[in-house]
Amino acid sequence: MPAKETYTGRFAPSPTGPLHFGSLYTALASFLEARSQQGKWLLRIDDIDIPRNIKGAADVILKTLEIFGLHWDDSVYYQSHKLNDYNDILKELENRKLTYPCTCSRKELSYIHTKQTSPDIYPGICRDKPATASSPPHALRVKTGNCIISFQDDLHGLISHNLAERHGDFILQRKDRIIAYQLAVVIDDHRQNITHVVRGYDLLDSTPKQIYLQQKLGFRTPEYMHVPIIVDEQGYKLSKQTCAQAVDLKRPHQVIFELLTLLKQNPPAELQHAPPTELLSWAQSHWNPALLKNLRAISR
Ligand code: GLU
Ligand code: ZN
Repeated sequence: MPAKETYTGRFAPSPTGPLHFGSLYTALASFLEARSQQGKWLLRIDDIDIPRNIKGAADVILKTLEIFGLHWDDSVYYQSHKLNDYNDILKELENRKLTYPCTCSRKELSYIHTKQTSPDIYPGICRDKPATASSPPHALRVKTGNCIISFQDDLHGLISHNLAERHGDFILQRKDRIIAYQLAVVIDDHRQNITHVVRGYDLLDSTPKQIYLQQKLGFRTPEYMHVPIIVDEQGYKLSKQTCAQAVDLKRPHQVIFELLTLLKQNPPAELQHAPPTELLSWAQSHWNPALLKNLRAISR
């Protein structure tokens, strides 16, 4: 009988600023899930969207994870080092006629979207345009159809999306030539042999698109768990955009204790002042993600 494959999870922050509380929450959940299964936990820096990267942020993120005792396995994977790989796979999809160039401008699309009932779904304007010899700046979209993509989320149960109705032909390469997150993440998860993805609920809607690409590329679909996102009192996600503060590096044990509380793990009060390593080892042996079942957001 073949040996059971090693659980391989990952954390994939974008270096758009220092780690904030909400990202660390997701990191801790994915770390605990991997470690409680004696699995590997890999780190990937999602730095493909070059204009959004902040210089030095990746190093700050690595340092923060170390201070918090979230040690990763293997070497760090940087998307920016994999551009040839992404372009080769994109070419393959192009050759298989699964993509088409789209020259629509944001302005044209936002005009159409105001008149459409489901916003943000591309109406397929460029899909059947004949190829032209000259090639104006364009994005590349993948052709989708009325297929249903379903998966079993570890916390939210069965999720099913009709791709055409929910997502339409989505972008694989932007007009500025940058590879879209949806394509990059599918290639990365495949290259890193990821068996389990634990990430925020805000990405749940992206999963059917990623599974669709996995199917087209013959890649295995990992298991998915979408943990709640941390929101402020107004219900807004803590993110760099809402100016969420970087985590306090001077009091890692306090931060971890609070994160464990928000992960519904009920850490014992005696551990309130324990060093991070002790807290993490308690959390690893008591980790019970089922306590997060069906939760989409948790306010801090
Ligand atoms: N880099 C993405 C983010 O920061 C996460 C990607 C993923 O986990 O699939 O939201
Ligand atoms: Zn178009």
